[in-house]
Amino acid sequence: MGGCAVDPQTLQGHPFAEVSGGGATNHGVQSPAMTLSAPTPRHPEPTPPHAVARLRATRLAASSKPFVARGSGGGRCERCRLPSAHCACAWCPPCTDSVGVCLIMGDIEAIKPTNTGWLIADAVRDTFAFGWARTSVDPDLIALLNDPQWQPVLVFPGEYAAPERVVSEPPPPTTGPAGARRPLLVLLDGTWSEARKMFRKSPYLDRLPVLSLRPEVVSRYSLRRSHTGLHLCTAEVAALCLALTGHPQQAARLNDWLDVFTRHYLAARGNLPVNMESAAHRALAAPASVAV
Ligand SMILES: [Zn+2]
Repeated sequence: MGGCAVDPQTLQGHPFAEVSGGGATNHGVQSPAMTLSAPTPRHPEPTPPHAVARLRATRLAASSKPFVARGSGGGRCERCRLPSAHCACAWCPPCTDSVGVCLIMGDIEAIKPTNTGWLIADAVRDTFAFGWARTSVDPDLIALLNDPQWQPVLVFPGEYAAPERVVSEPPPPTTGPAGARRPLLVLLDGTWSEARKMFRKSPYLDRLPVLSLRPEVVSRYSLRRSHTGLHLCTAEVAALCLALTGHPQQAARLNDWLDVFTRHYLAARGNLPVNMESAAHRALAAPASVAV
């Protein structure tokens, strides 16, 4: 956990679909029509780009060569990043208030179509995203970590931190001189080796408590989600933390959104129709799922 560790049961375990500058296409194969009708999209109006979408745009603008995602020949949905024929936007959960999430992202993480930090930003209103660099830091990230409305906690395996920094529960909301202070989950979003490098080489994170998810908690969660390993992707870590901070509904919706996204992504890769009657599809299509 912490960062997007590779796991065969998650998106991160699949070879990433995109290539840089290779001009790969879907070889002209048309996606088959999906056989089941989608619910009416819940977001018919354009929504402003969230933090990860903005970081993606910045990263793409800074890139010297075009970034071409495989399967993008037929066009991709700008909102969910999936090939248009497999767009999952109709099931995108409402963006609601809960905790804050601060994503510190590896170099190309924001532009990977498989990045799951994007899904967190879809569902958690106060999601912030910053690109990581070894030699510099975004002043807005420092300002966020110092903002008295937040209680930042770095989610990372405790064995990598000094014992006195390690906590096993997220900080409860408290009231400070400036008012209520909500938990801010700081997640290192990248490959596992990137996440470890970010952890070691970001002195501004050294003062933060380290929330180490207990193995039995991860194990219980993994069992519920039919995981075989203990490595969770970033959206799963966020969902687990949402549950631990007293937001079980938001946690469930984020898990469902990850499930739906994964199904659509894999169906698009295999040029297959999506089963839109999955439990996650049904949960997100249900009217109750829009309740905050
Ligand atoms: Zn879409």
